[in-house]
Amino acid sequence: MYLYNSATHRKEPFRTHTPGKVEMYTCGPTVYHYAHIGNLRSYIMEDVLEKFLRYEGYQVNRVMNITDVGHLASDADTGEDKMVKGAKREHKTVMEIAQFYTDAFFEDCRKLEIKRPDHIQPATGCIDGYIHMVQTLLDKGFAYLAGGNVYFDTSKTDRYHVFHDHDEEDLAVGVRDGVEEDTNKRSKNDFVLWFTKSKFEDQALKWDSPWGVGYPGWHIECSCISLKYNGEFLDLHCGGIDNAFPHHTNEIAQSEAYLGHPWCTQWFHVHHLNTGSGKMSKSKGEFLTVSLLEEKGYDPLAYRFFCLQSHYRKGLVFTWENLDNAATAYQKLIKRVAALQPEDGAVDQGVKEAYRQRFLEQVGNDLNTAQGVTLVYDALKAQTNDATRLAILQDYDQVLSLNLLEKGAQLRARQSAQTAQQSAGGYTVTGEGDPAIDALVLARGEAKKAKNFQEADRIRAQLKEQGVEVTDVPGGAVWKRV
Ligand code: AMP
Ligand code: ZN
Repeated sequence: MYLYNSATHRKEPFRTHTPGKVEMYTCGPTVYHYAHIGNLRSYIMEDVLEKFLRYEGYQVNRVMNITDVGHLASDADTGEDKMVKGAKREHKTVMEIAQFYTDAFFEDCRKLEIKRPDHIQPATGCIDGYIHMVQTLLDKGFAYLAGGNVYFDTSKTDRYHVFHDHDEEDLAVGVRDGVEEDTNKRSKNDFVLWFTKSKFEDQALKWDSPWGVGYPGWHIECSCISLKYNGEFLDLHCGGIDNAFPHHTNEIAQSEAYLGHPWCTQWFHVHHLNTGSGKMSKSKGEFLTVSLLEEKGYDPLAYRFFCLQSHYRKGLVFTWENLDNAATAYQKLIKRVAALQPEDGAVDQGVKEAYRQRFLEQVGNDLNTAQGVTLVYDALKAQTNDATRLAILQDYDQVLSLNLLEKGAQLRARQSAQTAQQSAGGYTVTGEGDPAIDALVLARGEAKKAKNFQEADRIRAQLKEQGVEVTDVPGGAVWKRV
C-alpha cells in the first residue's frame, strides 16, 4: 500500500522493519469523559487502516494506551489534570472515573465495529517503566532537574521539528492560551518528564520516584508503552492531527534519545471532525457521543459509513444534514444487499479475485475509503450472479466493517417474515411472522370450523387486546398489528 507519512510529508510505499509484520501504536483516549464522535473518527480510520493491512496479509500487533493519569488541561505542562477535573465534576475517585469511561469507550468502539487492539495498557500500570526511562534520559544527558521536576532537554536533539517547520515562537508552549510560562525550563520547547512540583496540591495519583513523590508528564506513557509491547522499532504510529505537536514530536524526541537509534518510520494522522465552530473537542464541553446519535435514532454504523465517505487527510464537517444523507444512503445500500439472493449460483472465484485486486489497489492508495465505498456499489452491479456479488461484499467488509451481509440478511428475514404463512387443515394464516400469534389465529380457525363461535370470538378478543387485527379471507385469515 501507499501511505502518506507525516514525518516525511510524502506518500510512500508502506514498509515494515520485519517483513510481513506490522508494529502499530495508537494513542488511546483520555478517559475523563465520553469519547466524542470526533475522537471516534480517528479511531474508525485507524481501524480501517489496521484491517486493510491485515487484508493485505500482514500480521499486525496493535497497541493502545489508556490515558488515566496526567494529560493536562492545556497544551502547556502547567494546566489542570483532566482526570482530576473529571473526578471532581462527578464526585468520584480518579480510578472510578477512568474505569467508567474506559468501558464506555470500548462500548462505543463495539457499536462502531472498531476492533479491540491486541494490547490495551492503562498508563497507571507502567510507572516503573517511566521512571526507568526518565532515569536513563538523565544518565545520558538528555534531561535535567529543575525546580523539583525532570525536563527533557530539546536542545540535545537535532530533528525536533519533524512534523512541521515551526519557528521558536509557535513552539512556545509555556506561553500559549494565557498559560503562564514555566520558568524552570531552559528552553521553551522543553517538556516535563516527571513532576514532583505541581501547582495543584490535590493531585490524586502520585508515586514515589528517585526525584520525589510525583507523577509522569503526559508524553512519556506512549513512548514507554509502545516500547513494552511493540519493541524498539515501531512501523506505524497513529493519532489525530492535533497529536502531531507537541505530543508525537515529544514522543519521538524522548524515544530516540532513550534508544539511541531511529524509532518510528511511519506516522498516520487523521484530520479533525469539525463543527460550525471549529474542531469538536472534549474540553469545550459540547460534543456529540455515539449514545446521543442512537437516542436520535441513528444506527452507529451510519456514522461509520459517513466517515468512510471522506478521506482521512481532509477535515470532515459534521452537520445533521450531512449525517442524514449518509444514513439514508446506508439504509438504501442495505436494502440493495437484502435484495441479493444468496442461493443464486456458485461464487465465481475469478470475478471475486478481480474485485479484490481493485480494492487492494484503490483503497491501498493512501487509504482511499471513499473509493472503497464506490467499489461496494460497483460490486452490486457486477456482471455476475448474486452469490458472487455477496462474496465480494463479504470480502470488502473485512476492511470496511459496515456489516453489509448481516444487516442485509436481517432485513431480508424481516421482509419475508412479514409475509410468513402458516397452514393447518387447509386453513392458511398470513401474518407478520410471529409464531405465537399464528397459533392463536389457527386455533380460532379450528374453533370456527367446529362451529364453536364463542371460542372463536374469545380468541379474536384476546388478539385484539394484543393489538392484532384478524380479517377472514377465503381459505383462512390474515392478521396484522394495528
Ligand atoms: P483524547 O481522548 O483527547 O486524548 O483524544 C483521542 C484521540 O482523538 C486523539 O488521537 C486525538 O488526536 C483525536 N481527536 C481529538 N479531537 C478530534 C476531532 N475533532 N476529530 C478527530 N480526531 C480527534
Ligand atoms: Zn500518545
